Amino acid sequence: MANKYIVGVDLGGTNIRAALFDLDGKVVSKSKASTGKDPLQVLFKLLESVYAPNAADVAGIGIAAAGLVDRSNGIVIKSPNIPKLDGVNLKSEIGKHYKARIVVENDANAAAYGEKISGAGKNIRNFVMLTLGTGIGGGIVFHDKLLPVAAEIGHMSINAGGRQCPCGNVGCLELYASATAIIGNTVAELEKGGSSILRDFNNGNFYKIKAKDIYNAALEGDPLARNVLREAGKGLGIGIAGIINIMSPEAIILTGGLIGAWNIYVETAIKEASRRALKELYDNVQIIASTLGDDAGLVGAAHLILDRNS
Ligand SMILES: [Zn+2]
Repeated sequence: MANKYIVGVDLGGTNIRAALFDLDGKVVSKSKASTGKDPLQVLFKLLESVYAPNAADVAGIGIAAAGLVDRSNGIVIKSPNIPKLDGVNLKSEIGKHYKARIVVENDANAAAYGEKISGAGKNIRNFVMLTLGTGIGGGIVFHDKLLPVAAEIGHMSINAGGRQCPCGNVGCLELYASATAIIGNTVAELEKGGSSILRDFNNGNFYKIKAKDIYNAALEGDPLARNVLREAGKGLGIGIAGIINIMSPEAIILTGGLIGAWNIYVETAIKEASRRALKELYDNVQIIASTLGDDAGLVGAAHLILDRNS
């Protein structure tokens, strides 16, 4: 075929990113804009800015979208972070303007495939990726291929009597181990009067605390911050143990801002998982950090064009 390029788009709640890759996976051009009120319009602007001058050179456009997707029809079923996209058929909307093959995949799934293409999963046949951020997403690579399943690992319950999750379940993993959970638990502890250097952050307004502030406080030895991160790590470890028992992967790859807190949050998770998972399975798994970071979704979405026939 005469195609020289593939396009990847990452549709997130905060930013939309697009990139043109050559067939060796090298970035030719790249662009980013805030998602704003009209994500489709932003998407078209970005596509226009990165697209190859000769449209016939582009093999296709791969879209990584936050939320549940119908990958066979290219529809975003439900996107809690970008409600404007609920029910939108991206394949047909984009198809009106671009005569290229269009693939739509969930963002965490695309990120997992990106790590397979050129990241931490490159030489690993079977792994599970967890994206640790505002929520927790998952993606599964099995026998070198991205499994076309939901992999909504953040909504796996780790506590039968736990809090209500907006998804309808109770005690979901992301209610315990996401950045949102870590911030919420820190604020709750501070409201109770717990002493912490976090009180001095943001001019004393602890409602503005970010996950990074909590990690930095923990690094300085702050007991409240350390405790919150350890509790979140335990939750993550319970989730990881479940994944190991079900999938027996060779690796669990972790990504997202929270992995900056590796030596407290992730180390606690690893310890918890080692206690809970079947020993024979745990012994064969490595828990590692992603190497592509924010680019994983873009890389994965674009390369799915070459991997999928539909
Ligand atoms: Zn849930």
